[in-house]
Amino acid sequence: MRPRFLSSVSKAAPSVIITGGGAAGLTAAYFAALQGSQVTVLERTREPGKKVLISGGARCNVLPMEVDVQRDFVTESSPSALRAIFASWSLEDCKRWLEDDIGLALATEEENMKYFPASNSSREVRDRLVGACTNLGVRIQCKASVEALSSLPGGGWRCSLGDGSHCEADSIVVATGGLSFPKMGTDGTGHRIVGGLGHSIKPVYPALTPLKGRHPAGSQLAGLSLYGVDLHCAAAAAAAKGKKKGQQAQRSAFLFTHRGYSGPSVLDLSHSVTMALERGTPLPRLKANWLGDSRAEWEARMVACPGSSSVPSLLRKHGLPQRLAEAICAEAGVSDRRMAELRKTERVALLEKLTEYPLEYDGHEGYAKAEVTGGGVPLSEVDCRTMESRVLPRVHLCGEILDVFGRIGGFNFYWAWLTGRLAGMHAAQSVE
Ligand SMILES: Cc1cc2nc3c(=O)[nH]c(=O)nc-3n(C[C@H](O)[C@H](O)[C@H](O)COP(=O)(O)OP(=O)(O)OC[C@H]3O[C@@H](n4cnc5c(N)ncnc54)[C@H](O)[C@@H]3O)c2cc1C
Repeated sequence: MRPRFLSSVSKAAPSVIITGGGAAGLTAAYFAALQGSQVTVLERTREPGKKVLISGGARCNVLPMEVDVQRDFVTESSPSALRAIFASWSLEDCKRWLEDDIGLALATEEENMKYFPASNSSREVRDRLVGACTNLGVRIQCKASVEALSSLPGGGWRCSLGDGSHCEADSIVVATGGLSFPKMGTDGTGHRIVGGLGHSIKPVYPALTPLKGRHPAGSQLAGLSLYGVDLHCAAAAAAAKGKKKGQQAQRSAFLFTHRGYSGPSVLDLSHSVTMALERGTPLPRLKANWLGDSRAEWEARMVACPGSSSVPSLLRKHGLPQRLAEAICAEAGVSDRRMAELRKTERVALLEKLTEYPLEYDGHEGYAKAEVTGGGVPLSEVDCRTMESRVLPRVHLCGEILDVFGRIGGFNFYWAWLTGRLAGMHAAQSVE
């Protein structure tokens, strides 16, 4: 690659290099170019936006329909720093940008409060984003892996690439993502680069990843899904004291996989497990209420049903899938019993299995299947108004490399668009 000249020497428009051509990097490129900068995106894989292509089951859930920052995002950094970043661009304005400037028609999925492209095509999202960048003159260079950054005496930065070449710019945006889905090009190189230059990195862990564990009664329920599960996660200490407080995934989908569990309810709480396993802290307890119905509702059903009903048929009648009803009855030792025959202790045990089933897990699927990475560069080390590093002047950070991720529902792309915009706009301005 030919070295680029710094604007201070060449008197040209400020130059910005974006390392990483994912959702955050392309957004940063768009906004830096809009400010008149010469923008180059260095992407290590063969094409930009590969993760956009595989997202949301190739439909790409681009945004949520509503946001509550405290409820929907996870960070170990300061909540006020997080709020300050979100205050910079409302969901409504971000949606308008996707529609009007990127040219993406959006459709809602009301039951899940999500926005998707009306075409249901993640390829359209990626192509329109790339098209909007190239229309503004952004140069996208693929198969360009940034391995190191070094500061230049004049104030700019040099990127050293894997093939031994170098390129220089007035400012840099680091948008290299996290460690999740490494086959998409994300292996934590960005963390290593900025970590080596003085940033502290909050210990990372896979998030939104399936859990491994044994199905009820040791049966094989793979492929079975439920749609209104309440999953409760209590920290080990709170659970030991019998406290109810904890995190909850309410009325969302749950899937039995070949090796354990997945679906939004499990993914949204998985970070509590992965974090504890990575850090060797006490493991939280997960409890499932399979239909989201209360204990009192089940008690009333048991009282009202004819005494001659078999226990599994009562569970099936009220919506429990047959295979799960059979597994739960087997585990409670009531498979061949009629309702009238149940002793009080058996009823209580059954009620617990229906509404507070202790989900056994012994591991997780790791970064290979994690949708995002927890941990990363703490928000205290970036200026939340500009995303400029407080450690490395004229280096801006955005997207998944930062110590923030959201739950399932378009929250992670919202974070990528939001921080990409701030980083790109201000990377262009930081030279002035
Ligand atoms: C299967 C799956 C489905 C998902 N579905 C959704 C969804 O529907 N909605 C949602 O909101 N979120 C979803 N996500 C999460 C979302 O994809 C991420 O939050 C988002 O892509 C993060 O954007 P980013 O630009 O920060 O990182 P990435 O998209 O990971 O982009 C980083 C880019 O940097 C490149 N790179 C890395 N290191 C270097 C280097 N050293 N030099 C050059 N280039 C480098 C990588 O190749 C990559 O292209 C999903 C994730 C996965 C894995």
